[in-house]
Amino acid sequence: MRKAGAPEWQPLEQAVPLDLFRAEVEAWAQRIGVTPREIRIRPMKRKWGSCSSQGRLTFDADLLRQPADFRREVIVHELLHLKVPNHGRLFKALMAAYLALETFP
Ligand SMILES: [Zn+2]
Repeated sequence: MRKAGAPEWQPLEQAVPLDLFRAEVEAWAQRIGVTPREIRIRPMKRKWGSCSSQGRLTFDADLLRQPADFRREVIVHELLHLKVPNHGRLFKALMAAYLALETFP
Protein backbone atom coordinates (compact mmCIF):
# COMPACT_ATOMS: atom_id res chain seq x y z
CA MET A 1 0.00 0.00 0.00
CA ARG A 2 1.59 3.20 -1.19
CA LYS A 3 2.20 6.16 1.06
CA ALA A 4 0.36 8.50 -1.28
CA GLY A 5 -2.68 7.76 0.85
CA ALA A 6 -0.93 8.90 4.00
CA PRO A 7 -3.23 9.97 6.81
CA GLU A 8 -3.55 13.63 7.68
CA TRP A 9 -3.31 13.17 11.41
CA GLN A 10 -0.15 13.52 13.44
CA PRO A 11 1.80 10.44 14.48
CA LEU A 12 1.05 9.15 17.96
CA GLU A 13 3.47 10.33 20.60
CA GLN A 14 3.90 6.84 21.89
CA ALA A 15 4.35 3.95 19.50
CA VAL A 16 2.45 0.74 20.10
CA PRO A 17 4.75 -2.13 21.11
CA LEU A 18 5.98 -4.39 18.33
CA ASP A 19 4.36 -7.40 19.99
CA LEU A 20 0.98 -5.69 20.00
CA PHE A 21 1.28 -4.86 16.33
CA ARG A 22 2.20 -8.46 15.49
CA ALA A 23 -0.76 -9.65 17.55
CA GLU A 24 -3.04 -7.34 15.55
CA VAL A 25 -1.71 -8.76 12.29
CA GLU A 26 -2.12 -12.33 13.51
CA ALA A 27 -5.66 -11.73 14.78
CA TRP A 28 -6.67 -10.31 11.42
CA ALA A 29 -4.94 -13.12 9.53
CA GLN A 30 -7.09 -15.61 11.48
CA ARG A 31 -10.25 -13.64 10.86
CA ILE A 32 -9.56 -13.37 7.13
CA GLY A 33 -8.42 -16.98 6.95
CA VAL A 34 -4.91 -16.51 5.59
CA THR A 35 -1.50 -17.59 6.85
CA PRO A 36 1.35 -15.20 6.05
CA ARG A 37 4.64 -17.04 5.59
CA GLU A 38 6.47 -14.26 7.36
CA ILE A 39 5.63 -10.91 8.95
CA ARG A 40 8.38 -8.32 8.86
CA ILE A 41 8.40 -4.80 10.27
CA ARG A 42 11.07 -2.45 9.02
CA PRO A 43 11.41 1.13 7.78
CA MET A 44 9.94 1.58 4.30
CA LYS A 45 10.15 4.79 2.29
CA ARG A 46 7.33 4.64 -0.21
CA LYS A 47 4.92 2.12 1.22
CA TRP A 48 3.05 1.39 4.43
CA GLY A 49 3.10 -2.28 3.65
CA SER A 50 3.74 -4.82 0.94
CA CYS A 51 2.98 -8.43 0.18
CA SER A 52 5.32 -10.66 -1.80
CA SER A 53 4.09 -13.36 -4.15
CA GLN A 54 5.55 -15.88 -1.69
CA GLY A 55 3.25 -14.63 1.05
CA ARG A 56 5.72 -12.54 3.00
CA LEU A 57 4.25 -9.37 4.47
CA THR A 58 6.34 -6.31 5.24
CA PHE A 59 5.03 -3.36 7.23
CA ASP A 60 6.62 0.06 7.62
CA ALA A 61 7.93 0.60 11.15
CA ASP A 62 6.21 4.04 11.14
CA LEU A 63 2.89 2.22 11.36
CA LEU A 64 3.58 1.69 15.05
CA ARG A 65 3.01 5.42 15.44
CA GLN A 66 -0.23 5.54 13.48
CA PRO A 67 -3.71 5.42 15.00
CA ALA A 68 -5.46 2.07 15.34
CA ASP A 69 -7.93 2.76 12.50
CA PHE A 70 -5.17 3.38 10.03
CA ARG A 71 -3.06 0.43 11.22
CA ARG A 72 -6.11 -1.76 10.74
CA GLU A 73 -6.64 -0.51 7.21
CA VAL A 74 -3.05 -1.25 6.20
CA ILE A 75 -3.03 -4.65 7.94
CA VAL A 76 -6.28 -5.77 6.31
CA HIS A 77 -5.13 -4.43 2.93
CA GLU A 78 -1.89 -6.42 2.92
CA LEU A 79 -3.42 -9.60 4.36
CA LEU A 80 -6.18 -9.51 1.77
CA HIS A 81 -3.55 -9.64 -0.95
CA LEU A 82 -2.87 -13.21 0.17
CA LYS A 83 -6.37 -13.94 -1.16
CA VAL A 84 -6.74 -11.35 -3.91
CA PRO A 85 -3.50 -10.22 -5.60
CA ASN A 86 -4.96 -7.08 -7.22
CA HIS A 87 -7.08 -4.04 -6.27
CA GLY A 88 -10.15 -5.05 -8.28
CA ARG A 89 -13.80 -5.08 -7.32
CA LEU A 90 -13.53 -8.21 -5.20
CA PHE A 91 -10.63 -6.71 -3.27
CA LYS A 92 -12.54 -3.47 -2.62
CA ALA A 93 -15.69 -5.30 -1.60
CA LEU A 94 -13.79 -7.50 0.87
CA MET A 95 -11.90 -4.51 2.29
CA ALA A 96 -15.17 -2.68 2.90
CA ALA A 97 -16.75 -5.78 4.45
CA TYR A 98 -13.89 -6.45 6.85
CA LEU A 99 -13.53 -2.84 7.94
CA ALA A 100 -17.29 -2.50 8.45
CA LEU A 101 -17.30 -5.73 10.42
CA GLU A 102 -14.88 -4.24 12.89
CA THR A 103 -16.77 -0.97 13.23
CA PHE A 104 -20.17 -2.61 13.73
CA PRO A 105 -19.64 -5.92 15.45
ZN1 LIG B 1 -2.34 -3.32 -2.37
